[in-house]
Amino acid sequence: MNRQGTKNIAIMGSTGSIGTQALDIVRAHPDLLQAEVLTAQNNADLLIKQALEFEPNCVAIADKSKYGYVKEALQKHDIKVYAGADALCQVVQMDTIDLVLAAIVGIAGLNSTIAAIKAGKPVALANKETLVVAGAFVTALAKEKGVNIYPVDSEHSAVFQCLAGEYGNKVEKIILTASGGPFRERDKASLASVTKADALKHPNWTMGAKITIDSATMMNKGLEIIEAGWLFALKPEQIEVVIHPQSIIHSLVQFHDGSIKAQMGMPDMRIPIQYALFYPNRIASSFPRFDFGAYPKLTFELPDTEKFRALTLAREAMKTGGTMPCVLNAANEVAVDAFLKDRISFLQIAEVVESCMMKGAQVDKPGLEDFLNCDTETRRTAERLCLQTDTRQP
Ligand code: NAD
Ligand code: MG
Repeated sequence: MNRQGTKNIAIMGSTGSIGTQALDIVRAHPDLLQAEVLTAQNNADLLIKQALEFEPNCVAIADKSKYGYVKEALQKHDIKVYAGADALCQVVQMDTIDLVLAAIVGIAGLNSTIAAIKAGKPVALANKETLVVAGAFVTALAKEKGVNIYPVDSEHSAVFQCLAGEYGNKVEKIILTASGGPFRERDKASLASVTKADALKHPNWTMGAKITIDSATMMNKGLEIIEAGWLFALKPEQIEVVIHPQSIIHSLVQFHDGSIKAQMGMPDMRIPIQYALFYPNRIASSFPRFDFGAYPKLTFELPDTEKFRALTLAREAMKTGGTMPCVLNAANEVAVDAFLKDRISFLQIAEVVESCMMKGAQVDKPGLEDFLNCDTETRRTAERLCLQTDTRQP
């Protein structure tokens, strides 16, 4: 915190869905938050626009070919410009940063999150893939460095909020809620022909493309089961999933006396982002409020794990442990990308993941190198599988 009591934050992935919503919060509380670092993959125009509005200490763009363009646009301003993947790991370590918001999508967010923890920076974690891929390493490192990881994912924020004031009380299980995505009411056979446009229509949330597809396959909930296991030190059998199509209850915790606590609110990611940025304080907001009259029914149903195969695969990966969740994640990232490029069909996403899990060499007590090797190896296998099924290939 600087002398004026403002928290300086690094927003990794500031041009994305989480990043831009975090900047909405900064905009609403200029006295409490300062965007010290902003980063993007390749959306140079938005990064420049954000830099001109928020005047960070520095910006970093992962795509090096955009360096000159960003540098020139900001040359008259006192804003440092860096480029390349390594720069992302350096900027998170700056002395002036109080908290890092990890909002890059996919394993691309792993290295900068690790660099932030190594530098002793508290992390508000949206990038669930970091924990799925290398949860053992990341949580051990955070413990060693005495660094807190605050969940941003709405379900994990809900669990975190339900646990407040319950120190020492035993958790029997947690229940993660899922909207069920756009295909909740369709039968499995009809999913063979769904398009990218169908899958990108999420009923309740507006998010980046990758997580929106993950929500349609329900791999997102699978990744969240693994994420919750690491964040709250829970066994797979202590984490249940229930479909709740209205997305008003964001998740629940059942304690060993049988009592269940739930956290509710409108499906608005700015609430969990803000909670993570200001924990343990709640800051007044003008976000839309829940109206009981508008929601006469909150409903629940159990997920169809036959239709949503990804959910079963994620559970299996978690139970196997070691590098298997890393295989699951890498195969899924490649398959989702191939689906978004119309190279494979919707149901083939889970097929690619399952084939990679069957082929993948399992390392039982992996270190960071093992996770990174496993990621590279799995991507190669998954790419080959996508090529074989690529409908555009002659
Ligand atoms: P997004 O695609 O909208 O944004 C991703 C951001 O990461 C962008 O700023 C992009 O420039 C940056 N980025 C992408 N690839 C990069 C790379 N190789 N190197 C450096 N930067 C890169 O994604 P999002 O929806 O904001 O999701 C971000 C993370 O938050 C994901 O892990 C997602 O699972 C998680 N999350 C998102 C939501 C949501 O509502 N969007 C909710 C819960 C969790
Ligand atoms: Mg979530």
